[in-house]
Amino acid sequence: MEKITCLIIGAGPSGYTAAIYAARADLKPVMYTGPQPGGQLMITNDVENFPGYPDGVMGPQMMEDFKKQAERFGTSIRYGTVSDVDFSSRPFKITIDGTEKVLAETVIISTGASAKWLGIESEARLNGKGVSACAVCDGFFFRNQEVAIVGAGDTACEEAHYLSKLCKKVTMLVRRDEFRASKIMQQRVLNTPNIEVLFNTETVEILGQDGVEGVRVKNNVTGEIKDIAVTGFFVAIGHQPNTKFLEGHIELDANGYVKTIPGTTQTSVPGVFAAGDVQDIVYRQAVTAAGTGCMAALEAERFLAAVESESEIHAK
Ligand code: NDP
Repeated sequence: MEKITCLIIGAGPSGYTAAIYAARADLKPVMYTGPQPGGQLMITNDVENFPGYPDGVMGPQMMEDFKKQAERFGTSIRYGTVSDVDFSSRPFKITIDGTEKVLAETVIISTGASAKWLGIESEARLNGKGVSACAVCDGFFFRNQEVAIVGAGDTACEEAHYLSKLCKKVTMLVRRDEFRASKIMQQRVLNTPNIEVLFNTETVEILGQDGVEGVRVKNNVTGEIKDIAVTGFFVAIGHQPNTKFLEGHIELDANGYVKTIPGTTQTSVPGVFAAGDVQDIVYRQAVTAAGTGCMAALEAERFLAAVESESEIHAK
């Protein structure tokens, strides 16, 4: 069975950054890309907040740049999805696509988190054309415009507040008659004059052919349907970390995110590290993902060095 020194699972900003650092440390990293190589940035248009791109960059182009840089130092990038792991002893046993098995001395989990979507046709059609699941990434494109945001949790409140500073007006669509968010976040939203909260309100359809022109909503108590003119539509109904294959093998938090020791990328299993959105419920940015990817590679390198010196001591 092939034995890999540093196996990276997932091909987003954290995985590629881990690969660049691991390759330059001569750990000969092997990356399995998973079903969506490039991660969430593949469904993003302009990225204007990643340092080093003064004129902005398209998400897919940026991921191509990351990939080239990782390959330049010798990362082996393979198109396959890790379907199962056995972390009970080292080297770890990893199954790819249900059949192929490899061994890994260290593992970096960088499988990300996927935004949840409403699942309506107009949302998919206008994705990246006014529909977004990240206010921090895309809010800037809607300066002085009117936008809507759906969701009632802490993320929705935080993003609505963020948008209120850029946009003329933010209409928040809450499906029940109350928020799910913490009281402090609710208060922040309710005290912001240019945020209007519509309770008991569901999205019927996002209006527009090539860009967002409005949203059709329904009051689920009165049955009233109305159109609201907006040019941006933000979805903030939660994220799903891509950790199904890790259940029972590593410690996850109540939301399914990989638990790491604060200030590190170390997981509950020595030799297994987690970087990027799969372990980050708070920031979820490409640049923070890249930062933790770097940390994971450095920690994997240090872990291997410590294991090696320990076995040398035992051999003496
Ligand atoms: P949550 O799961 O907490 O909230 C999701 C929200 O989306 C809920 O209000 C839910 O409504 C709503 N929703 C779900 N599906 C639909 C739908 N189809 N149509 C309309 N609305 C829908 O996700 P968050 O991302 O907000 O938060 C995740 C976790 O991260 C939480 O624990 C949160 O506290 C934490 N967090 C903390 C932050 C902080 O401390 N600064 C910032 C951001 C997140 P309903 O309430 O009706 O179920």
